[in-house]
Amino acid sequence: MVDPQIGVLALQGDFAAHLSVLESCGYRRSPVRSCLDLDQVDALIIPGGESTTMLKMIDRYEMREALVKRIRNGMPVFGTCAGAIILADRVSDGEMALGTWDLQVERNAYGRQSESFEADIKVRGLDETVRGIFIRAPIIVDAGGAEVMATFADRPVLVRNNTMLAATFHPELLGEARIHRWFVENLCAGKE
Ligand code: GLN
Repeated sequence: MVDPQIGVLALQGDFAAHLSVLESCGYRRSPVRSCLDLDQVDALIIPGGESTTMLKMIDRYEMREALVKRIRNGMPVFGTCAGAIILADRVSDGEMALGTWDLQVERNAYGRQSESFEADIKVRGLDETVRGIFIRAPIIVDAGGAEVMATFADRPVLVRNNTMLAATFHPELLGEARIHRWFVENLCAGKE
């Protein structure tokens, strides 16, 4: 895939921050708010926000089936925080996420909003650490067969498989672009 069109699910959450990071990299990008929008993109970022609300919006706009189908067919996808929860197939409180990835996550696992924190994260393949912002972040309890690219306090915080990437923190909020670049260059190149 040369110069892929990267969609950002723009129903709820910090989608604008992801679009800005993609813009800073010069990538083609567009907000995704409908199945029609989804048809126009080669890859998708699911932002942070509130997974229950985002899933409700996905259902209200009748996008669940199309999203699951595209992801199962190999569309590259990157989920941050709530976006990671939305990809998972096992969520602590039984939330019916998309279930497209063999991941077990526990929501709000570091505590309340006031217990949100920042940390420097060493990411496999990057020389300098990434400043991670964790806002009512989930913990990946079981990463299944995923490759763990970064950990914090012995828990995976950035994981990948062949077509999917999930971060429990927000690289996009500080304008950090290296993880987005990694996603586009490694998971989007040569797909579909
Ligand atoms: N706590 C949110 C949820 O469970 C995720 C928070 C975030 O995306 N920063 O959906």
